[in-house]
Amino acid sequence: MPRDSGNSGLAKLESEGIGSRQLERRRNSMMRCDNSICLSGWDGIAGVNQVSSPTAPSHEGGVVTITLTINERQYQRPCGVPVVGVCIDGSQPEADGQPGYIEEAIKAGVAPFFERLMKSGTRRIAKCVMPSFTNPNNLSIATGHPPAYHGIAGNYFYDRDCDEEVMMNDPGFLRAGTIFRGLQQAGTKVCVITAKDKLRLLLGDGLDMSSGSAICFSAERADQVSAKEHGIEDVLALAKMPLPDVYSTELSEFVLASGVAIMRRERPDLMYLSTTDYLQHKVAPGSDEANEFYSMMDRYLGELDEMGCVLAITADHGMSAKHDTKGRPQIAYLQSLVEDWIGERGVRVILPITDPYVAHHGALGSFATIHIENASDRLTIKDKLSRTPGIMKVYTSEEACNLFQLPADRIGDLVVFSDRDMTLGTRADRHDLSQLNGPLRSHGGLTEQSVPFLVNRAVDFGPERPLYNYDLFEVALNHTLDETVVAE
Ligand SMILES: [Zn+2]
Repeated sequence: MPRDSGNSGLAKLESEGIGSRQLERRRNSMMRCDNSICLSGWDGIAGVNQVSSPTAPSHEGGVVTITLTINERQYQRPCGVPVVGVCIDGSQPEADGQPGYIEEAIKAGVAPFFERLMKSGTRRIAKCVMPSFTNPNNLSIATGHPPAYHGIAGNYFYDRDCDEEVMMNDPGFLRAGTIFRGLQQAGTKVCVITAKDKLRLLLGDGLDMSSGSAICFSAERADQVSAKEHGIEDVLALAKMPLPDVYSTELSEFVLASGVAIMRRERPDLMYLSTTDYLQHKVAPGSDEANEFYSMMDRYLGELDEMGCVLAITADHGMSAKHDTKGRPQIAYLQSLVEDWIGERGVRVILPITDPYVAHHGALGSFATIHIENASDRLTIKDKLSRTPGIMKVYTSEEACNLFQLPADRIGDLVVFSDRDMTLGTRADRHDLSQLNGPLRSHGGLTEQSVPFLVNRAVDFGPERPLYNYDLFEVALNHTLDETVVAE
């Protein structure tokens, strides 16, 4: 760590016209931190609204805490103890009368680390953001805010300006920087590993891979990593696993195996591991296959705990069975329904779950949004849909944006949620159900909003604080207490 890296950061701040008093405070905290492991480089600080915290208590051998403001929320910069955020995709918790994957694995006796974590760490149920899909929630966790802030409201949307239905996978759609980018720019070494590559592009947005202080890759393309683009080489050897299939539990295992290996070798200050819900789409909590999967996760997460990491675990959404007793998928085809009512005039049903990986859900979830050209048709459709069996709630765009903090320009005129056991489709001929590899399980709605929120430390707030999954890094960085560690 070159000592003058701090000064080049300061010079940059000065050249950006930061006030002298503010600068003095920063200089003080940077100098005080200079002898500690905190200061690992201050280059490239631009773009982060960074504030030092002169009143913050020192912890661990007099190291001064540095507080950064990223996306209008404050985060204490990790200092000495690596912080690992984990998103277990589709990890339905025991809540709302539903069994939970982790809880069932504990009952089966195959998840000893989770068991200790539940007993001596922090165990809460949090909410995810709507729609309860993967990308909106991963971006919420990564930015600390709901979709109205970061702009990602699904995989797919209708762009009114271009009159086109488009994928929302491109980082160009992102309206906020990530916490990872903010921390890296403040000198923190970060590592982000995703299962699928579509998410890697979004989560890695703005990271400077050439600096040596950021690693970001997906398990899906682990064979294609390079130091220049991903900040790391030869991940297959590191994980000691072959390249996993995109439809496999190994895709998630690869995320964890490489995460543990990188933590051991490189010890980044902050890590985010995001798995895929292939398993959860396929089988229910408590099944042998699910228990085996969570037992595998338990081993890797236990290793991170043993390495002394602060470990904060949540999910992007829950998961529900969406089939009848005979295993047939339950689907309300909205485009067909609406056209039966008003004819084929200016109605467009959008299913934001739509993505190139349809084999496990057939583009069927519990959330849809409808664009309706004629304003006079909107209330008619809202009224009729509200009285349709299997439909839980229908909101106008204004109502939905207020309730769920959605970006108004990326949703339609109505927002529709289905019941727990029901999904929403467009027209029967637009869904290839032959690709489903088992009775349909999916998410997207209000019934998949509960997610686990687990930390391997005690926290400094009580159960009365409502939590969203996007509070994960705020809690992990600012609110964990040092005394309790789950490792035996
Ligand atoms: Zn997901």
